[in-house]
Amino acid sequence: MSHNLSHHPDNVMLVEFSAGTLPTAESICVSAHLHFCEQCRTELLRLDQVGSQLLTEAEPAEIDESLFDTVMAKIDSAEASPKLATAEKVQSFPHSVSKLIKNPQHQPIWKRLSASVDIARFKTGQSEFEVALHRICAGGKTPKHDHSGVEYTVVLKGSFSDERSVYKEGDFLVRQPGDVHQPMGAQNGECICLSALQAPIKLSNPLGFLMKPLLRINPM
Ligand SMILES: [Zn+2]
Repeated sequence: MSHNLSHHPDNVMLVEFSAGTLPTAESICVSAHLHFCEQCRTELLRLDQVGSQLLTEAEPAEIDESLFDTVMAKIDSAEASPKLATAEKVQSFPHSVSKLIKNPQHQPIWKRLSASVDIARFKTGQSEFEVALHRICAGGKTPKHDHSGVEYTVVLKGSFSDERSVYKEGDFLVRQPGDVHQPMGAQNGECICLSALQAPIKLSNPLGFLMKPLLRINPM
């Protein structure tokens, strides 16, 4: 059983992000976390320098931006909207998330999931993960649930708690299949999270069943 309580992406993910080999959904979550976390930005900078001497002279903000563009290039189609450059209304969100929200092709529509939770799903051009925003109202209790796949979550606004911990802005969580939890929104305001939930693997499909160990992101 793997419990990642560090609230940061593990080093394997950062190495893959730096190398550009981390899949799209995970990359969106990592880049959202990097927006908040200087510690991981510093580590990423170090990894980038290991990977490429060309980046040695660059400033962290520039590196962040170029990495982000690499990630988004996988998602965006060729034509770029000029609106994307001035995403003023969502500037408090990480660039990766703002860009998803502002792009008409990926525009999320909020839907009520339960009495205290709304969800807005993104179209990200990949089917392995469902990428979505979750909004938990102040003090809201979500249904107790588990997952059939890995789930990554980054807190974008506010905070929430579960049986294990309190999660604040920027915190990065990994939930393994079988983890049961019941997030609760903080009393002092709504909480908005970005999440990437691995699409359920159909156990009726024998190949899908065999593939399962290969899909694990975190080998520890
Ligand atoms: Zn971090």
